This record gives sequence, structure tokens and C-alpha cells, in this order.
Amino acid sequence: MTNPLLHLEDLPAFSRITPAHVEPAIDHLLAENRRRIGELLESVQEPTWENFIEPLDAWDDELERAWSPVSHMNSVVNSEELRAAYNACLPKLSDYATEMGQNEALYAMYKRLAESDQPFDDGQRKVLENALRDFHLSGVDLPADKKARYKEISQQLSQLTSTFSENLLDATNAWSKHFDAVTALAGLPQSALDLAAQTAQQRGEQGWMLTLDFPSFHPVMTYAEDRALRREMYEAYNTRASDQGPHDRKYDNSELMDRILALRHEQAQLLGFTNYAERSLAKKMARSSDEVMHFLTDLAKRSRPQAERELAELRAFAADLGHDDLQPWDVAYYAEKLRQQRYNISQEEVKPYFPETRVVPGMFEVMSRLFGVSFHEVEGVDAWHPDVKFYEVRDRDGHEMAQFYFDLYARPNKRGGAWMDTCQSRRVTHESCQLPVAYMTCNFTPPVGDKPALLTHDEVETLFHEFGHGLHHMLTRVDYPAIAGINGVAWDAVELPSQFMENFCWEREALNHFSGHYETGEPIPDEMFERMLAAKNFQSAMMMVRQLEFSLFDFRIHREYEPSRGARIYEILNEVREQVAVIMPPAWNRFAHGFSHIFAGGYAAGYYSYKWAEVLSADAFSLFEENGVFDATTGQSFLDNILSKGGSRDAAELFRAFRGRDPEIDALLRHTGIAA
Ligand SMILES: [Zn+2]
Repeated sequence: MTNPLLHLEDLPAFSRITPAHVEPAIDHLLAENRRRIGELLESVQEPTWENFIEPLDAWDDELERAWSPVSHMNSVVNSEELRAAYNACLPKLSDYATEMGQNEALYAMYKRLAESDQPFDDGQRKVLENALRDFHLSGVDLPADKKARYKEISQQLSQLTSTFSENLLDATNAWSKHFDAVTALAGLPQSALDLAAQTAQQRGEQGWMLTLDFPSFHPVMTYAEDRALRREMYEAYNTRASDQGPHDRKYDNSELMDRILALRHEQAQLLGFTNYAERSLAKKMARSSDEVMHFLTDLAKRSRPQAERELAELRAFAADLGHDDLQPWDVAYYAEKLRQQRYNISQEEVKPYFPETRVVPGMFEVMSRLFGVSFHEVEGVDAWHPDVKFYEVRDRDGHEMAQFYFDLYARPNKRGGAWMDTCQSRRVTHESCQLPVAYMTCNFTPPVGDKPALLTHDEVETLFHEFGHGLHHMLTRVDYPAIAGINGVAWDAVELPSQFMENFCWEREALNHFSGHYETGEPIPDEMFERMLAAKNFQSAMMMVRQLEFSLFDFRIHREYEPSRGARIYEILNEVREQVAVIMPPAWNRFAHGFSHIFAGGYAAGYYSYKWAEVLSADAFSLFEENGVFDATTGQSFLDNILSKGGSRDAAELFRAFRGRDPEIDALLRHTGIAA
């Protein structure tokens, strides 16, 4: 084979992969898999783990390992040709996945295996249990007429949700505002002005141009002195793809939203659930929709009084400056002024204390002290860019456990943000052992001259967050790929390790390991650290109730859907706001029409997961606060009970094994400075 994507013995040969390799490799593997699975179903009489699951896993693994470098390169060294090849494969992969989920012969074989009296271990039982659940959720075991309806709904939903996104994108793109004089943009920081000038230039105009893209919109709401401009952009942004505001009505999502909710409800009922919220919980840690509702309303009850105080304080502050009718488009603006006045802390001031040359080795040291693992750089590994570094992770006894690529700097054609992704998963069979490999990607400003890259504290936190996901993937001891590392972990628990790691960025003892002035090596002055801590929780209750408003709204529209009453989207949103919000948007606000997380993304009846996982991570960290931030026993227990266990047991059981009890919300409230 000359196609490097089909050379699956070693790590990907990144330097040899070209866009021309992509489609042929995926076509080949999909055809191979269809053929091999067909043969397997013919030939196997009595399925066992070895003769049935292991080959299926091996073929899945080949597909994952061929596709992962493609999808990774599409994100980090994007080009038009690569994007075209990548997009050409997406429908093929999704058709294949749907086909497998609805393959009755495959399902029957899994069922026979699960119902046999073979002596499975706990992990194997979990894999089979998950597989049967997923088959059921894809409608494979429905009677013929219902199955046909199920498929029809799936196709319609995929069409409707994609149109929802397109409308939102088109409405966002259709709006812009041009300025000849920079004075109209008074207050905006230089970076926002540069962006506005660049946008104008790209569209062949002089001067400055604002758009509804978040990097353009957000600084206006936070800094623009012109109140009428803030009001105008607030309205344009919050009425996108709706029946309100300055937009073309052809982008109106109203009808799509009603239909999406109706079809989700019908599909959930076909599968035997009362409503879509129950369907969503089938793969989550939360046990019932009552539990989720109680969780959210309880958190709201505890946070709202403080959110009201924070808002009152902001109103008073704005009134002192001569504005006594604080409107939604004024909130971010005065909040920023108040924050500056009170804490006078900027990311720029903190940066010299976080040179990358200190942060990265320091972070490794923190992880070593906690979990007994060590990190070793390996030179000469083939990668997609000269900046990329490669490391090996070894356990306490020096045995290799995992490997990862580290790609830290921003550059053209690299997607923004930070993330961890899987290159390969841990897979141990009766004859082979494959270790996990991760991609760790950030977008830090690269070093200039001989000055090291200097990180903001936010960036350090991001690095710890992604490294938490990375450790979850890499330190797993689970041998079955479907439940190893982050695979098979409940959606509302998957952010536990990542958010957990962030906490170390706020602990002085830990901070001393990974900070120090890049010229003098001096630690961050106590006085500066105190200001950082104080600013951390500024208006945290207002932020909390806003997240709770989104979560409750999302959960209730899915849970309370009734065909006879229709979707009642804004009716329910208003009820939720009455209950939890402190800032009441104007009646023409159409926030839900742009809420693509739930109408077009994977967060439907699952937006609450953000807060849910935050409770878990804060509560887990509180045990370190009790026993000592670097307590070795607690670290080992976190490794043994959570990090290494992946999806091999239910998230709630794993949490209990570590914490000795069910999760409690007190630590989250304390960490966010909410006195309840
Ligand atoms: Zn994350």
C-alpha cells in the first residue's frame, strides 16, 4: 500500500499525507469493513468476545486511526483541497454509522452474545450493555412501520437542524455596519479596531466595519461608548434568524424550531420514552428529569439573591455615572467599567509571570506529584508542523502508558481555541496491546525573538483544562476501546477531569510550580495574586443565573412538549426568566432563534451538563482542599477511581468511589463565591 493513511502499523506519517489520499483511503476502509462484517455475520455460529467483538473493534480501530489524522489536519493545517476531501467523507462516514446502528443481524449477534452464559468481566458487560442500548436508541428493534417512521424522522431532523444553522449563519453574515470615522467606535480596544478595519478591507471598503460575529459583537457590548450603537447591535444580534429585528424574514427559524421539537418528541415516544428529555438522559449520568429539574432550580434558588445584589450594585454604579435606566445593552459595558475600577487587573499585567518555558514543565510536575506519572519528550517524530512536540507518558514504574502531540501556537490555517482529540485509543486484546495517543492543541501567541511565549492566566487555565481531558484519555487502564479513556463516558460527566484540573491554577502552592517572572524568575507577588482571586468571582452569581436560565429553558421545552399545545418556546422561556433571571430582556428579544447548541448541536435537553459537570469537578477538588492540594493518597485515589476508569462503570458510581458519597453543590458555590 502506498497510501500512508492505510499504513496502520505505526503513528500517522503526517508528512506524507496529502488530500489526494483521503477519499480513497476512507472508501477502501468502509468497503472493507462492510465486506468483513458481512462475512463475520455469515461465518460466526456462536459469538464469543474473541471471535466477534475483537475483530469488530479492530476494524473500527483501523477506521478511527485512518480518519483521525485527516480530521486533525483539517483543523490544524487546513487547506481548500483538504477541506474538500474531508467534507466529501463526512456523509460517507455518517451513512456507515447509521447503517451499522440499524443492522439487524449485527444487533441479533450482540444480543446473543450478551444473553449467553459466557464469563464476562465487568468491562465486557458494560461494553455489551452500551452497545445494546445504542442499537435500541437507533430504532433497530422497532416493528417495521415504526422503524420506517423512525428513519423518516431522523432524516427530517438532520435536514431541519442543518437549515436552522444555515439560517443563523446567513442572517449573521447578512448584517454589517460601516463607519468612515473611527470616532464613532470610541472605547473599543485596539484589537477590536484592527479587526473592524481588516473586515472593511476584506470587503473592499475603506474605514471600519462591524459584524455580528462574536469577536466583533462582543467588544462593542463591552467597550463601545456609544449607547445607541450598543442598542442597535444588541437588537441585531438577539433577533438573528427570527421574525424580529432588521433581518430578512426568509431566515426566520420559528417554524423550524416548532417542527424540530415536535419530531424529537415523536421519535422519543417511538422508542418508548415519555418525552425527549427522558430520551436525552438515556446516555447521561443524571437518572431522571426530576433530578435535573431539581438540580437546576435548587442552584437557581441559591444563586438568585446574590445575583440580585450584584445587579443592584451595578445599577448604582451606572447611576453614579449618570445613567439610571440600565438596559440589557448596558450591562456588559458598565460591568467592565466596574471590574476595572474595583480590581484594576489585566491579563497583560500577569503575563510575564507565565512564560511557556515555565508553565509546561511546571504543569508536568504538578501532574507527576498528583498521579505519579512522568513526561518525556521524544525527538524526531513525524508531525504536521515544525512547532509540534511529541511526548511519552510513563507510569510510576517507568512503563510507557501513552503518547501525545503538543501543538501550542496559533498560526494561519489553524482552527482557533483549544482542544484534546484522540489519535488512537487504548485497545488490549488476547494478542496485542495498543496504547492511547492524544492530540493536544492550543492557540497561544508564539514566542517572539528570544523571548519565550508569555501566557495569560486564562490561557494557563485552558491548558490545564485540555490536559485534564488528555489525562482522562491517556491514563486509562481500560482495555476495551469502546469504554477506554473518554469513550463511553456520560456526556454530563465528561468535563469532570478537565474542569477539575483548572482548580490547580487558583492554588498558590501549585501556582508556584508553574509560574515565575520570565526575566527574574520571581514568583507572582501576593498582592497581585489576591487581586486575581478577587476578580475571579466578579458577578459570578449573575453569570450563574444566566447559565441556569439557558439550561432550564432547554430542558423544559423538551420535557413539557405536548402535541396539542405546540412548542410554546417563548412562553416557557418567559416562565423560566420570571423564575431565575435578574435581567429581563425586551419582548422582541429572540435569543432562542440563535440557540444552535440545542436546536442544531448535540446539547438538546443536555445544556445542563455544563453545570452538572462543574458540580462534580468542584466537589472532587474539595477533597484535595481537605487533604492537601498535593496529597499523594488523594491523587492516587482520583487516578484509580476516576481518571483510569474511563467509561467502564457509571459516572455516579465512580464519583462515589472517589468521594465516598454522592456529589454535593456546596463546593461549586464556594468556589464561585456564592454565599448560599
Ligand atoms: Zn472541556
